[in-house]
Amino acid sequence: MKDQTKLIHTIPVDPLTGSIAVPIYQTSTYVQEEPGIHKGYDYARSNNPTRKVLEDLIASLENGSNGYAFASGLAAIDAVVKLLETGDEIVAVDDIYGGAFRLFTHIYQKFGINVKYVDTTNANNVAEAITSKTKLIWIESPTNPTLKISDIATIAKIAKANNCLLCVDNTFASPASQKPLDLGADIIVHSGTKYLGGHSDLIAGLVVTKTPELGEKIKFIQNASGAILGPFDSWLVIRGIETLNLRVKQHAENAQKVAAFLTSVDLIKNVYYPGLSSHPNHEIAKKQQKYFGGIVTFDLAVDEKEIASFIVSNTKYFKLAESLGGVKSLCCLPCEMTHKSIPREKRYAAGVTDSLIRLSVGLEDEEDLIEDLKNVFALAKERISQLQTVL
Ligand SMILES: *Cc1c(COP(=O)(O)O)cnc(C)c1O
Repeated sequence: MKDQTKLIHTIPVDPLTGSIAVPIYQTSTYVQEEPGIHKGYDYARSNNPTRKVLEDLIASLENGSNGYAFASGLAAIDAVVKLLETGDEIVAVDDIYGGAFRLFTHIYQKFGINVKYVDTTNANNVAEAITSKTKLIWIESPTNPTLKISDIATIAKIAKANNCLLCVDNTFASPASQKPLDLGADIIVHSGTKYLGGHSDLIAGLVVTKTPELGEKIKFIQNASGAILGPFDSWLVIRGIETLNLRVKQHAENAQKVAAFLTSVDLIKNVYYPGLSSHPNHEIAKKQQKYFGGIVTFDLAVDEKEIASFIVSNTKYFKLAESLGGVKSLCCLPCEMTHKSIPREKRYAAGVTDSLIRLSVGLEDEEDLIEDLKNVFALAKERISQLQTVL
């Protein structure tokens, strides 16, 4: 069975009524016949049939054994870190999602779990950072916002040789494009808020494990810590996933055209998009991803925050907002938004300059999106010449 068919038919018809849409089981508890004798459901933190459909669906999509749905992407990340013990170490990608960095630094460090950050685009850096204490390798590919790509299969081999688990945050690529478990990873996390939900209308997180043994451990943590996804949000993510492949394909087509356009704009210094042959990790992206994704990042030839800020505030279709992966195009200025808490020097070292702009290319007609950008660049040029006259 091909992916798209599997995706639609992993979502079962309701066994009780034949409802073709997944019912939303909005309940806290389930009536038992005798103490401990029930239909497999006893309490809705532990089990919910709507959530179960989503969990089985994401496991199937990622070719994993078990899936679990959490209240947010960060709750999913938190559940994976809870597999570790005091004294254990994590080796993580250096431009990790800011929320994961905050969780590792301000919550887990005080429990004695330490993290080493390395540039994982060079797998040797991972091998060199591993010590006898390292239990978990954490990568994102592509990363946010400069879309660096790491070689998942090579890092998986290094992890295995050192008895470490490899967890991949697959949020940016989505399973429509990239299957980390097939490349040797042990665990996948997702912010379901992004492409899986796909409509900017929910917050959700998912964990998928390669083996049932790991799955049971995550299940225990999910139930013990309790950060589950509610039935209605589970239903919304299921509904989003039904069109995931179609959306991701179109996001990538639009993004490729937007990226190509941006390379021709004289106001722009660098365009970051894995689908451009100029991208330093283009070859590995081509090898391990089906699509190059819907995020395009660029910085300006004049590294002026004021001009970048003017651009993101004056687009018509690209709405200025955090987050990504929805049908509506979004833009953001990482230095003032998603990456504000990172010290300037560290930010610049990661390529996140004051004029770096991230676009989440949506599903509007690409000609309108490019027109929108053309207009705003023309306005920005006027603005620059005004500023120069003032000076
Ligand atoms: C958004 C995001 C997260 C966090 O997910 P939430 O649903 O916002 O908690 C984690 N990783 C990546 C790569 C993200 O983009």
